[in-house]
Amino acid sequence: MSLLSVKDLTIVVQNEDRQKEIVHDISFSIEKGQILGLVGESGSGKSMTCSSIMHLLPRNARITSGEIIFDGKNLCELEDSEIDAIRGDQIAMVYQDALLSLDPLFTIQQQMLEALFAHQKISKQEGILKCVETLQQMGFTDPYEILKKYPFECSGGQRQRIMIATAILNHPKLLIADEPTTALDVTIQEEILNHLFHLAKSMDMAVLLITHDMGVIAKMCDQVAVMYAGEIIEKANVFTLFDTPRHPYTRALLNSIVNFDHDPNVPLSFIPKSVPQNYDRIEGCRFMDRCPYASDICKFKQKMIHVDQNHDVLCHLSKKEESL
Ligand code: SF4
Repeated sequence: MSLLSVKDLTIVVQNEDRQKEIVHDISFSIEKGQILGLVGESGSGKSMTCSSIMHLLPRNARITSGEIIFDGKNLCELEDSEIDAIRGDQIAMVYQDALLSLDPLFTIQQQMLEALFAHQKISKQEGILKCVETLQQMGFTDPYEILKKYPFECSGGQRQRIMIATAILNHPKLLIADEPTTALDVTIQEEILNHLFHLAKSMDMAVLLITHDMGVIAKMCDQVAVMYAGEIIEKANVFTLFDTPRHPYTRALLNSIVNFDHDPNVPLSFIPKSVPQNYDRIEGCRFMDRCPYASDICKFKQKMIHVDQNHDVLCHLSKKEESL
């Protein structure tokens, strides 16, 4: 049985003028110790999907159908008090902007201990030792000094490593990391992702990693789900997705990666137009107005096609005999 299984999940947002379906009928699962990347452009529904797992949807958003099974429990059926016991303990979350997540009025030690004491009955001394140990796992060589500091005294990279250390203090079974390194420069990003990868594997912790960066997916993930306009349009293991991408959107995303050896005389590849605003009103394929292969058949609703073991694609062209 999977550690997390999201089945046919649909989320709607009520705006002033209308109700918009922002996530439509998505399904994916994560095994213990596995890293699954949820990738796609901004506005594709990635963050809403993750917020729904933690019961952290905005007030005007709600799940209208589907289920989220975590460790045998349907999280959609739990009361907020029940999810409080799971959140921060069995499931932890790391956000993009650590400065907003850390309280400027308290030291790192106070904040890390608070996260620990919320779920564990241990002494302050034991707590400090746990904080020190976890900070060391995140690459800090001076953990006692870090614990004395306030967030503003730490660099952006240090704050993000502190956030991850705080998230894993209680040894969660699942870590949800929402663009955890997007705001950082590439060398710091590399360092943090390395620590996160090794921690996840050594702790046998599953990670749901949200990113728009295919490079991060290649480096970190075992499985990948590509989201576009509120739908999962391709799912596969990372090698299959990079070696034989089937959906035109996935292909376009991969073609958009800039390599160091790129010929400066060749224009960079990009995906024309942007994610449609009212994508829930589109009856057929939601990628149609950006897809070079669009034809009349694409005006009809597409079915997820199982092209291979562990490889599903939401495009009629992905049928084995009709490869692009
Ligand atoms: Fe392109 Fe049609 Fe496939 Fe959509 S269904 S991705 S428009 S070929």
